Amino acid sequence: MWRTLGICEDDWQQTPPAVQSKLRSQYHEAHSLRLRSVSYQGQIASLIEPAALIERLNRRIASQQKQIVDLQQQLTDTTRQSAEITRLKSEITVLKEKLGQNSRNSSLPPSSDSPFRQPVVRREPSGCKQGAQTGHAGFGRKLKSVAEVDRIADLRPDTCSSCGSLLLGVDNFPARRQIIEITTTGTLLTEYRRHALRCLSCRRINRAAWSEQARGGAFGSKVIAVIGYLTGRLGISHRDAKDAMQELFAVKLSLGSITAVQKRLSQTLAAPVAALHELVERELVSLVDETSWKEKQTKPWLWVKATKRATVFRILPGRSRKDAKEIISTNEKGFVTSDRYPGYNHLREANRQICWAHLKRDFQAIAERQGDSKLIGEGLLERSRQLFRLWQKVRDGTLEKAEFQKLIEPIKEKASELLFAGTLSTHSKTRNTCSNILKLELSLWTFTRVEGVEPTNNQAERALRRAVMWRRKSFGTQSEVGSQFVERILTVVTTLRQQGRSVLDYLKKACVAGAAGENLSGLGFQAI
Ligand SMILES: [Zn+2]
Repeated sequence: MWRTLGICEDDWQQTPPAVQSKLRSQYHEAHSLRLRSVSYQGQIASLIEPAALIERLNRRIASQQKQIVDLQQQLTDTTRQSAEITRLKSEITVLKEKLGQNSRNSSLPPSSDSPFRQPVVRREPSGCKQGAQTGHAGFGRKLKSVAEVDRIADLRPDTCSSCGSLLLGVDNFPARRQIIEITTTGTLLTEYRRHALRCLSCRRINRAAWSEQARGGAFGSKVIAVIGYLTGRLGISHRDAKDAMQELFAVKLSLGSITAVQKRLSQTLAAPVAALHELVERELVSLVDETSWKEKQTKPWLWVKATKRATVFRILPGRSRKDAKEIISTNEKGFVTSDRYPGYNHLREANRQICWAHLKRDFQAIAERQGDSKLIGEGLLERSRQLFRLWQKVRDGTLEKAEFQKLIEPIKEKASELLFAGTLSTHSKTRNTCSNILKLELSLWTFTRVEGVEPTNNQAERALRRAVMWRRKSFGTQSEVGSQFVERILTVVTTLRQQGRSVLDYLKKACVAGAAGENLSGLGFQAI
């Protein structure tokens, strides 16, 4: 024990026994205490360990609970998203369906079909021309029964063409043609019967000639004129014209007949239209404009040339200077109003008038740009307003031309200054427009110098508008003959309206005269 307490043997031997005994008892007490303490520590440790474990477990549970909450939240979100996806999917299906809807798979009208979504019909070209084929029997006009005929006209040969003998008898099976015509009280169906008679002297068979009326198809002159009016003046479709003829006049015809009638009318109008071209050629002042056209697969241009007394149309292959020269008079003294299209740039500046309605639109574009361009554009717009105000007074007779010429001078000067300022603008578009206009400066003011020249191209534009509506409704023409009909009927209709005359009345007269074989140049437009 004393060794454990670090006491050497000699010291221990010299320690009194009472002290030794006290030390011994204290040593044992301490030892026992130490043992107990170790045991307590073990007990404490065994008590502490589960608590820590519990705490650790609690923490894990808490963390797992949090994870569960998070996962539950995620699950809720996913469920919601999945419902949203399902809803959107069904919406897409509905929309897709709607997008694909057209007149063929829904109750939508054909007019609502997009021109860009026309189904591509992949059909091999048959190599046949459009329309009825040669040898096609046609749904054509069957002859009506005699009971339905209003009038019979027998055409008999009088004398033998070979020996001059008088021909006698009747042909029991004459060739027959029926012509329907509109009258003031309704319709009249005439049957022409062409007899073939054998000469009793020389045995030669003599056939009578068809009369003029029976020569050109199944329709009378007035029927042709009315169809020309419906399609040419009112611009209604062939189908509607067919319907109108049935409803208004009880005249039944096929769509093919409408085309045939137009062709015949076109031939009738050839001479009067040629006369109009000559008339227009002689006019000193004209207005020219052009718009795109469609003839089968090609894209020609429809040109118009309007003058004071007449307006003519031509469908030409293009829009080039060559085409412009074709329509514009070769008369070098003539004056032409047009827009700034470069196709007209071959014209002499002094003989050209640039349309101020177009210039006004150019100025508007300049004014809509910012900075200096805005100021220049507004200045130019103001000058054009002043110009139009003065010109209105000239037109209604409240301002003398000489006075107008004085008043226009400061406007001209200011416009010139503004255009020059425009060539220095910070906007490149404004610079270009102003330079291009300045190149044609002399042509801006021809109307102030030359009698009869107007400051705008409105007359030509108005004339073209009807043609544009026609093209939209009919999708252009299908053949050269069809385009020729368009040129001629537009020329006739526009000129007649310009002269304040009845289109239907003229067409009737022209068709009657044409059917009677009269020379139609005598039906010139100045004549009636
Ligand atoms: Zn004879």
